[in-house]
Amino acid sequence: MTAASTQPLIAELRRIVGQDYVLTQDDGADLRAWELDWRGRERGKALAVVRPASTQEVAQVVRACAATRTPIIPQGGNTGMVVGSTPDTSGTQVVLSLTRLNKVRQLDAGNMTITVDAGCVLQTLQEECEKAGFLFPLSLASEGSCTIGGNLGTNAGGTQVVRYGNTRELCLGLEVVTAQGEIWDGLLGLRKDNTGYDLRHLFIGSEGTLGIITGATMKIYPMPKSQLTAFAALPSLEAAVQLLGLAHEHLSAGLTGFEVMGQFALSLVNKHFPQQRVPFWQESPWCVVLENSDNESEEHARAQFERLLEAAMEAGCVTDAVIAENLAQAKALWHIRESIPLAQAQEGLNIKHDISINVSRIPAFVAETNALLEQKFPGARLVTYGHLGDGNLHYNVQAPEGVDQKRFLAEQEAPMNAVVYEVVDRYRGSISAEHGIGSLKIDKLPEHKSPVALGLMRNIKRALDPLNLMNPGKLLHTENH
Ligand SMILES: Cc1cc2nc3c(=O)[nH]c(=O)nc-3n(C[C@H](O)[C@H](O)[C@H](O)COP(=O)(O)OP(=O)(O)OC[C@H]3O[C@@H](n4cnc5c(N)ncnc54)[C@H](O)[C@@H]3O)c2cc1C
Repeated sequence: MTAASTQPLIAELRRIVGQDYVLTQDDGADLRAWELDWRGRERGKALAVVRPASTQEVAQVVRACAATRTPIIPQGGNTGMVVGSTPDTSGTQVVLSLTRLNKVRQLDAGNMTITVDAGCVLQTLQEECEKAGFLFPLSLASEGSCTIGGNLGTNAGGTQVVRYGNTRELCLGLEVVTAQGEIWDGLLGLRKDNTGYDLRHLFIGSEGTLGIITGATMKIYPMPKSQLTAFAALPSLEAAVQLLGLAHEHLSAGLTGFEVMGQFALSLVNKHFPQQRVPFWQESPWCVVLENSDNESEEHARAQFERLLEAAMEAGCVTDAVIAENLAQAKALWHIRESIPLAQAQEGLNIKHDISINVSRIPAFVAETNALLEQKFPGARLVTYGHLGDGNLHYNVQAPEGVDQKRFLAEQEAPMNAVVYEVVDRYRGSISAEHGIGSLKIDKLPEHKSPVALGLMRNIKRALDPLNLMNPGKLLHTENH
């Protein structure tokens, strides 16, 4: 593809969105922010970055690209974990950035919904709800940058899934620009609608491979009167599962967060962020941070928490615990959990596994996989933490101390993944609980998904995107498309 041959398309895109909102390298624009995956693993080369400001503009852009068979890479905040929102290195793909579609369209207090543009930053959505006295419960450490379109594209999880579900469960309607450039307005906000296939569920979690989400209607909840946080020390992972059962029993729907953290993960926070005071980590193999949201009062929440922790200590599954006295303390305790990925990055290169297993089988999974890794990769350091309430662990591996980290990763990542994913398969788990597949795991998917499921996915892709222009090279190999 030559610059001359792409000039008519670039001119048409400029006509649609305005001169300033089509960026190309030929015009001297710095495209790094859109081309580079945020973890710095890969940088692609875009034909152009296009930044429409409305659904109608998105539809026109898609039609112009379809007419010239130009692939489109939808991008929100570019905070994804699996290299899903950046172009390949061919210089032939258009990055379609949704960040100028950033309006809150309507908050309907009676229907308990909020309708927003897809490029709305998650934190903006949370703040808009809070101003009106509501809670939008999706909560990720990337919430200051990620967009609701990206959250829907990846079906993001986060720390409140145990109570409110993934992004999918929070969505009551979508507006989508199809691969043909048509606009599907599915922003009905209905809680019941049995009129056939529920199309929104096709687009949620499809990682931009079926169409472009331009708007969404999301569920909102009454703001709890009190949100209390506790931090507990535990003797084992079995004890953490036992505590989770007790927490469901004592707190019921009040249980809004349950995160587990292994001793080595906490030692990294202690090492790299010494200003944070990490309780219990030296004497406990595992710690848990848990949250109780209460619609009655703080006293009620505290009394419930105290009864839960007493029962847990009696049962021997908690050895020590603190309940935050105020919001600042609660934030500090959550900050410890949120700092683990950053502490890991400071420690050096690591291999990430975002896996899910039935909660009851997690202790056996970890014991078995730890033993295999220790035997096959002596010195490898296991950083285990995550959303135990959802059966989702970040089961990561840090290179042994003192070795050449780049070399360790180059040589050991594939055999290590093979060991971990083999056990995941035996436990009937998932190799990607919340981060998606992107291009990072696209080769792994066929090894771990049933051929029947893959065949159905390919049929859906062919039906909705017959020209294979929507985020090609992500999620699903489309050879013989
Ligand atoms: C510090 C940190 C913590 C994180 N914690 C979590 C966590 O707890 N749980 C979790 O699930 N993830 C987490 N993530 C990952 C990431 O934030 C989520 O995947 C998020 O949903 C991505 O949103 P985004 O707007 O950045 O999307 P992008 O990264 O831009 O895109 C992600 C995917 O969605 C597609 N896409 C984007 N916008 C649209 C659209 N409008 N229509 C169709 N497809 C679209 C892209 O093509 C791509 O395939 C974390 C990331 C960071 C940096």
